[in-house]
Amino acid sequence: MSRKSPRDGSSCDDRRVWLSAPQLAGDENALVRAALESGWITGAGPHVDELERMLAEVVGVAHAVAVSSGTAALHLALRALGVGAGDPVICSTLTYVASASPILYQGAEPVLVDAEEGSWNLDPRRLVESIERLVASGRRPAAVVCVDLFGQCANYAQIEEICDRYEVPLIEDAAEALGASHGRRAAGSFGLAAVLSFNGNKIITASGGGALVSSDPSIIEHARRLAAHSCDPAPHYQHSELGYNYRMSNVVAAIGCAQLRVLQDRVLQRRTVFERYREGLSDLPGLGFMPEATAGRSNRWLSCITLDPAEAGIEPEKLRQNLGNENIEARRVWKPLHLQPLFADNEVVGGEVAERIFERGLCLPSGPGLTVRDQDRVISIIRSALQDADQP
Ligand SMILES: *Cc1c(COP(=O)(O)O)cnc(C)c1O
Repeated sequence: MSRKSPRDGSSCDDRRVWLSAPQLAGDENALVRAALESGWITGAGPHVDELERMLAEVVGVAHAVAVSSGTAALHLALRALGVGAGDPVICSTLTYVASASPILYQGAEPVLVDAEEGSWNLDPRRLVESIERLVASGRRPAAVVCVDLFGQCANYAQIEEICDRYEVPLIEDAAEALGASHGRRAAGSFGLAAVLSFNGNKIITASGGGALVSSDPSIIEHARRLAAHSCDPAPHYQHSELGYNYRMSNVVAAIGCAQLRVLQDRVLQRRTVFERYREGLSDLPGLGFMPEATAGRSNRWLSCITLDPAEAGIEPEKLRQNLGNENIEARRVWKPLHLQPLFADNEVVGGEVAERIFERGLCLPSGPGLTVRDQDRVISIIRSALQDADQP
């Protein structure tokens, strides 16, 4: 096996340029070894404690609980807020399915709300419209799940104010945005609680895993109890409420600790990748970039471009295939949830902006291990695809 394959997870094909390959930070071996030697090799231990402490510090909140995935963290947040069957829950429509699947786990009803052009995130005006529409029909929303898309925080200056005004609990889905900021606050510090993910493709990984972070100790303590089968304080096994097995292993947490130490490096690496795309492509007619909101700093988890087929002469799907033929992985922007068969029966408020971004968007290779040489190849393939398309 080549030296490279275990590092970036590409053992099946070393030459492939991946969308978002993980990269080791360096201390993983030592910390995993320490975890194993400590004897804490299951769902609790000093590395879990350390990861939770570091996460709370990085995000700027008081409390964190590490769990088995970001999806699990969101499920726990909904449970801790008391979201139940039939409750309307507002959710960004332009996102990955995992932002809304826990709403379905609860038997609650996603109400899918459009994005705004300026940030690709939840449109505050549409949020107001959706809350007022629900309230007018006697269905008070039980929560808002607001996503920070591709590493950029939503417009929380307005969204927090709206949720406060209408007294609707806000959950931040910051699974893609660890290391980003909005104003002077870090991603993960907005709303009543926020979800983080350490899945393999995210800005840092623990090989898998996630966390719920909050300033409210009661939310985190409830989530912690639910994540471990919800045991009552009794000398025997006693359970009053339904729990889950969502704990994070201490061995996994050791990897997370090593990765979290290099978070700021990863943000800089990914932002540099984005800047190189901008330098290499921004003169092309019909090609644009995901905008960066002026109020904050994106972690540029994924570099996203947009193509106007009329001007660029090529559809994003065709460009994706061209790159694929050169062994380069690009992906379409998330298909909006309101267009997914799974959510066909759910309400949608707006949706046109998300649809346009989906039709035009393409995510380019963005990992910290992307070499300048590989990135130059990506750039030159895109340039020739758009210029060829220009010719009659
Ligand atoms: C990855 C992701 C999740 C889920 O995280 P997992 O750790 O993979 O369960 C949730 N929401 C968004 C927006 C994501 O990108």
